[in-house]
Amino acid sequence: MLKIVLIFILLILLTVTSISAAAGANNTTKSTYQNQTKMVIGTASTPYITKVNPENHALNVAINKTIEIQFNQPVQYKTGWIEFRRDGILNPFKSSIDFDTLIIKPSSPMRMGSYYTVVLHTNSLKNFDGSGINCSSISFSTAIRVDIINTVTGGDISKNSLLYNSIQKTVLSKEIISKAKTGSPLVTFGDGKGPKILIVAGVHGNELSAQAAAMKLINHLNGRHVMGTVYIIPFAIPYDTAHNTRYWHNKDPNRVANVFGSPTNIIINLAKKLKIQAIADFHSSVPGGVPGKDSALCTRTPMYKSYKIASYIAKYSGSTLIADKIAGQKYPGALEDVTNLNGIPAVTCEVLAYHNTLKNSCVAKSFKQMWGFLKYFGIE
Ligand SMILES: [Zn+2]
Repeated sequence: MLKIVLIFILLILLTVTSISAAAGANNTTKSTYQNQTKMVIGTASTPYITKVNPENHALNVAINKTIEIQFNQPVQYKTGWIEFRRDGILNPFKSSIDFDTLIIKPSSPMRMGSYYTVVLHTNSLKNFDGSGINCSSISFSTAIRVDIINTVTGGDISKNSLLYNSIQKTVLSKEIISKAKTGSPLVTFGDGKGPKILIVAGVHGNELSAQAAAMKLINHLNGRHVMGTVYIIPFAIPYDTAHNTRYWHNKDPNRVANVFGSPTNIIINLAKKLKIQAIADFHSSVPGGVPGKDSALCTRTPMYKSYKIASYIAKYSGSTLIADKIAGQKYPGALEDVTNLNGIPAVTCEVLAYHNTLKNSCVAKSFKQMWGFLKYFGIE
């Protein structure tokens, strides 16, 4: 009996000790926290950002990412005026604070290829001494959408070493080149509002200037806020690009856009489906060939707008305007002509360059023609 009583007393003692130990632990945590706060009060006033995740100006951010903004000291809400914007427009989110870190959680997954900004207004947060933060903002871009629109045209772009070596090896470039092994890549920029336009390069696989320029444009647009939607097909037929050829199943792909299922025909059907407002198709023309000069080509009928677009690009890029009367007469089956006959304005741009060659000046000219196309639509 005595034994049992002793064990009972021992148990009570153990319990009391563990409770007081726990209480002690709590006290320790609290005092450490108070010490930290006191230390901050003594050494710093306005809290400032020490780390953000994703990093400011980050590209290719995952659409389910939570944004973390860490300060040099613990913070709490003051006015709480925080904005989260997608391409300039307010986007719903929830925020919380974990010690020294503000966490922004978008209410739904972010959109691909969009430009996001977090704005922390002056005094939105404060430290435990009441000192408010200064206004600051963080911006980043979500991953760009890369789709495959034709699964029989795939090819390894790295086999075309001249072109491949000219491409900036960004995360996005690598993704496009990797996906091009399985078909024709379509890269999408923008928020879906405003004009929707399509840039095509590589209909002729051995015309390298436009393909290099298209990849340059893609990397240039990544991380920028695009006013509208820009679709870019940098390699219309990756297989042809990989093999440095201009023929697809023994035919010129720019003469069979009216043949169902041809690579160019698939592009036109895609343009119809996406309700694209204009296509510009970029090529190069050899010296002595037709047209054999830097030029913007179009027809006035049936889509007069094609003439206006080509005129603008020609003037902007210092190219010759070549305007024919009616689509489909001179070049039946050309991507440009068949697109016009389908009720979508389209132009062709050429830079003077030999096939299978790549000169910086030719790439720059092709890029300028593309830029003129964007400018016509107020996208840049
Ligand atoms: Zn061509």
